[in-house]
Amino acid sequence: MAVQLAPPCLDRLKSEHMEELDEATSTLDRRTTAEDDYLTVTLLASGLAGILRQRADELWHGEVAGLLPDSWRVAFTRLWWRFTEQQATPLDSDLDLLRLCTEPFAMWPVRLALSETDSYNALLHGEELSSFAEQAARLGKGDVEAEWVENRLHQALRRAAEENGVDPAGIERVYAELRRFIIDHPVLTDTEVRQLERRFAACDGNGQTFVRVLINAAYVGHAVSGPYRYRRCPGCRNTLGQIGIGCETVGCAGGVPEDVTVTSLAMVYEYHRATRRYIHDPGLVEVRIFDAISDCEELIQAVRAVLFAGVDAVDVLVEFLDPRQRDGADAPVVLERWGIDAKDQASARLLGRGFTWPQHFDCDERILALPKHRAEQPGYVEDLEAELEGRVRVTVLTEQELLRRIKARAGRLGW
Ligand SMILES: [Zn+2]
Repeated sequence: MAVQLAPPCLDRLKSEHMEELDEATSTLDRRTTAEDDYLTVTLLASGLAGILRQRADELWHGEVAGLLPDSWRVAFTRLWWRFTEQQATPLDSDLDLLRLCTEPFAMWPVRLALSETDSYNALLHGEELSSFAEQAARLGKGDVEAEWVENRLHQALRRAAEENGVDPAGIERVYAELRRFIIDHPVLTDTEVRQLERRFAACDGNGQTFVRVLINAAYVGHAVSGPYRYRRCPGCRNTLGQIGIGCETVGCAGGVPEDVTVTSLAMVYEYHRATRRYIHDPGLVEVRIFDAISDCEELIQAVRAVLFAGVDAVDVLVEFLDPRQRDGADAPVVLERWGIDAKDQASARLLGRGFTWPQHFDCDERILALPKHRAEQPGYVEDLEAELEGRVRVTVLTEQELLRRIKARAGRLGW
């Protein structure tokens, strides 16, 4: 039941449904209808997350699920009205709606006012939420389990930084270093964990390091001693399961899978599903932007880049330094600060709705950076800007354009 949209199929789908989509968005009141249908989709995604969670509970505890989640019920009713308005035959059962969730919205017998790009998404891929549905469920605060793990992980990360950093600047540095460490290590051995514990040695009342608490929150341990072999994607470093199935990481270029062997004393750790989803995969674009700026020869003296600045207030902070202190002052004068939030998300509309800028974090330029593959999707930037319009003041740029602007700004400041 997996829905895979290969490009030729996508083209066919577009030509077949373009007219209908155009008609749907032109004849109905654009603003109100779009808002209504995005709400329906958010509720559906939350409901699906709840259903999948219930099913996991049944498997673990042998419990029979009770009622379907409220958000699912509400979404079902809202859709029923959409079907009726459009003189389509309403759905008979929850199972029908569940089946529909595996198909892209553009294939549904009812027209929903979603952006063109969004209409080619399905909510379910096989038996898992699609990345579009994950994004929607998060906006609807629906995926409670993932949110819980994510919160626990963030708490552990902050605590480890607070306990190991001596002052606010130190806490900020340790936080960024630990977060980067997790992003760079989808698989860890116990030896690597011990090395990390030696560097960040602060312990809780039970003599356990805060770093160990963090690793336990972010990873799942397997008892392995000696060599441990796994396959990984060279693009994103995520582990790969069955042969022939790609990493499916958003925005990853992939490549020929690599076989990697690590050696452990007694334990090997792999990401918890939530760590991959909420720390590693979004971290790829954050880290790429940071590395591009900090490795750029032209900018080495001109700017100082800080990853996860303000304990994650922004993904990257770029500080333009005063060229009159070219020869390296102890406390360089900062002329300008640019804050960058990097996002690689399936739906521009949902990203725009959920996007906020941290209140207390002030900077001269606020930038929302997108990878090229998102910015190149037809209508993506326009949809995103339409959602942000009048709500959040932020400039939308691609990664590449961002780097060009930073270089140009440094040049104008005299570097
Ligand atoms: Zn990959």
